[in-house]
Amino acid sequence: MERISKKVIYVGGIAIGGNHPVTIQSMCNTLTQDIEKTVTQINQLTEAGCQIIRVAVPNMEAAQAISEIKKQISIPIIADIHFDYRLAIESIKSGVDALRLNPGNIGSENNVKAVIDHAKERKIPIRIGVNSGSLQKDKLEKYGVCTQAIVESALEHVSILEKLNYEEIKISVKASSVPLTIDSYRLLSSKCPYPLHLGVTESGTEFTGTIKSSIGIGTLLAEGIGDTIRVSLTDDPMKEIYVAKQILKSLGLRKGLEIVSCPTCGRTQIDLINLAKQVEIALKPYEEKEITVAVMGCEVNGPGEAREADFGIAGGKGLGLIFQKGEIIKKVDEKELLNELIALIEKHYSN
Ligand code: SF4
Repeated sequence: MERISKKVIYVGGIAIGGNHPVTIQSMCNTLTQDIEKTVTQINQLTEAGCQIIRVAVPNMEAAQAISEIKKQISIPIIADIHFDYRLAIESIKSGVDALRLNPGNIGSENNVKAVIDHAKERKIPIRIGVNSGSLQKDKLEKYGVCTQAIVESALEHVSILEKLNYEEIKISVKASSVPLTIDSYRLLSSKCPYPLHLGVTESGTEFTGTIKSSIGIGTLLAEGIGDTIRVSLTDDPMKEIYVAKQILKSLGLRKGLEIVSCPTCGRTQIDLINLAKQVEIALKPYEEKEITVAVMGCEVNGPGEAREADFGIAGGKGLGLIFQKGEIIKKVDEKELLNELIALIEKHYSN
């Protein structure tokens, strides 16, 4: 998949833009100043595949907590700031790796300059994040809520930083409407050289949010737009990481375990739906391995339909076949299918 190449910036040690891999971000839902809880959540998210974490910084205590949090985590941390430029400066002093703030929302030019002077010392990138729900009044009056208003607003924030000779920038233009999100990123991508942080905002609970994020983020990535992503769900942030990883894998932007399973039909004679779920759980430790595992309902079509799979099972009546690269290698009782499949994969990786 060809990607639209943007300026490369660094969040901590992670490169964003150019041809660098699309990175996965999430945001803590703990009180940032509760260091223990925040660190625990960041480390769990890191384990799941999160590469960059953002925390809310609504007060000085939160900004100061960043220095202690940083000592106990292994991924870059971004401070999310609104309105108060002093929180941005304090976060930089605490060692934060990047900021999310809109320069037009933190008061006078002097305030912005003070933040940028500090940011310049360590080349701290700034994400400008415009959301359709919080557009400035002048844009709303001029355009209403639309692509033009969102992109113009983002570019105005950008020009404030450019005037101060600061170009360590990435941008997001999120909306809760998927078509508006897609159109806004398309327009923005055509107008600026900076890397883009993709997301559909306030996308909803697990089911709805997963679909909206997959369509919004997925469509843009398929067009080569986007350098880092955050799936927003009204749920445990761990789920955001699982969805983000699957979006990237589905588009071939990330390698790893793929489980394919058939939708079941009148030929299915085993409890395939449960079996597929159990296989998914049992193969969690193989998440990073570049293998495809098939879980198919029947022995007539299963192995053939899943010929590309490295390993697979195909159900029969009370029994099933274990197959590898389209070749049947064993016939076993239905109860043993899961164990036999896992044993085969384990053996493959222990050799
Ligand atoms: Fe039906 Fe077999 Fe295809 Fe599954 S693999 S959908 S059971 S024909």
